[in-house]
Amino acid sequence: MKIPECDRCLLYSHNPHLFCAVHPAGPQGDSCLDFRLDPNAQAEELWEPEGATYYNGELILQPQQRLTQQQQQELLDTHPMFTGRCPRCNAEFDRDWSARVHWDCSECGWMDDTV
Ligand SMILES: [Zn+2]
Repeated sequence: MKIPECDRCLLYSHNPHLFCAVHPAGPQGDSCLDFRLDPNAQAEELWEPEGATYYNGELILQPQQRLTQQQQQELLDTHPMFTGRCPRCNAEFDRDWSARVHWDCSECGWMDDTV
């Protein structure tokens, strides 16, 4: 049986009919004693799309411009997308965000220029 480690193993032949030089039928059980990490294998589980980041486990697309870490933190602390409130007058935003494209405040006229 092929195990997840096979994809990152030097001995993996990438041939579905004889995929391992040492264990042609695959390793016994769910780990392999002969596993050798292939330095050229891609670490797929760490993949993150360009220009996006994870916030509370959800993938968030960043604005086009590159923000510094401090600017990103500021955005998370102040932007109504994350706080639910207007950064200027503190008015509460409608939490139905799915249909929301613009974050302009109807109370004080604050305009969102980040997204
Ligand atoms: Zn406002």
